[in-house]
Amino acid sequence: MSGDRPSSAARSPAGPTPAPGGAIILDGKAVAAKVRQSVAMRALEFASRFGRPPGLAVVQVGEDAASSVYVRSKRKSCAEAGIESFAQDLPATTSEAQLLALVHALNLDERVDGILVQLPLPKGMDANRVMDAVDPAKDVDGFHPLNTGLLAQKRPLLRPCTPLGVIRLAEEYGIALRGLRATVVGASNIVGRPMALELLLAGATVTVCHTGTRDLRAEVERAELVVAAVGKAGFIPGEWVRPGAAVFDVGINRIASGKLVGDVEYEPAARRAGWITPVPGGLGPMTIAMLLANAVTAAFMRAGAKPSDTAGAGAGR
Ligand code: NAD
Repeated sequence: MSGDRPSSAARSPAGPTPAPGGAIILDGKAVAAKVRQSVAMRALEFASRFGRPPGLAVVQVGEDAASSVYVRSKRKSCAEAGIESFAQDLPATTSEAQLLALVHALNLDERVDGILVQLPLPKGMDANRVMDAVDPAKDVDGFHPLNTGLLAQKRPLLRPCTPLGVIRLAEEYGIALRGLRATVVGASNIVGRPMALELLLAGATVTVCHTGTRDLRAEVERAELVVAAVGKAGFIPGEWVRPGAAVFDVGINRIASGKLVGDVEYEPAARRAGWITPVPGGLGPMTIAMLLANAVTAAFMRAGAKPSDTAGAGAGR
């Protein structure tokens, strides 16, 4: 369990509302540290069995400031977990053909078990074409159509990191997902859609909201679990949150004061929710931890060994 928090038996957000004082804070930082510790042990085991550490190539094209922060943090986390990181920094002037050539070379490189191409790519590049070029066995982001398809078919292999982080965090805090009425706000390929598939896999009844949703408030109000992945600061008012609900805020938005905030209006939501993730310190660290877990899983799979468990996210439904 997460650090000093008492182990809670699985309980459903439909259960009694929490004591006045508000929600349990889902401490992504603490749980991520625990995941990273287990990744480090698995990386060590891999190295002792196969004579080399698991390897992860992190590719960045251009110098987008936010991307550089994420990339640095991913590379540092690799080193701490005993994963060899292969840095590939390409100038913004790189052509798509050059990037594809690099991806092909990394696909063939035996030391590289995972390939991550940091998004967004510079204008003019087709991110789909680049994602499609990554060997699905090295697709630690879980964005390749094969991995998306396997997740949709209830036989996941490499799974998108942020949604996997939500499932792992829920599991850690004993939030029982089966039967839960869940609403995912946002339907992107990298967060919203795979999130819906993960929740479905875990046995929740899932609604996905997007720009075409007619009555977003009603969809959020009836949800026992909400995942917000929109990318707009404080977009979901706290008063929409159903008392006792579990709130997972994926959004990372920098506001005028320089502060990072999520997509959910935190204070009022935390007074109503049963559980809530902070921003920062929620799904950000969990996403990186699940990326490292995927890298080690990919290494074992490529070596023909049984994939180790990455999330324990329940059997398919
Ligand atoms: P995106 O822009 O690709 O997708 C946003 C989604 O929100 C779209 O599906 C859109 O339909 C929906 N949306 C926009 N306006 C809406 C409205 N008015 N009503 C209902 N739905 C609406 O964004 P993304 O890549 O999915 O990222 C979402 C957020 O999550 C961003 O803030 C991003 O920075 C953050 N993010 C965080 C992590 C992490 O590690 N915590 C990882 C990935 C993304």
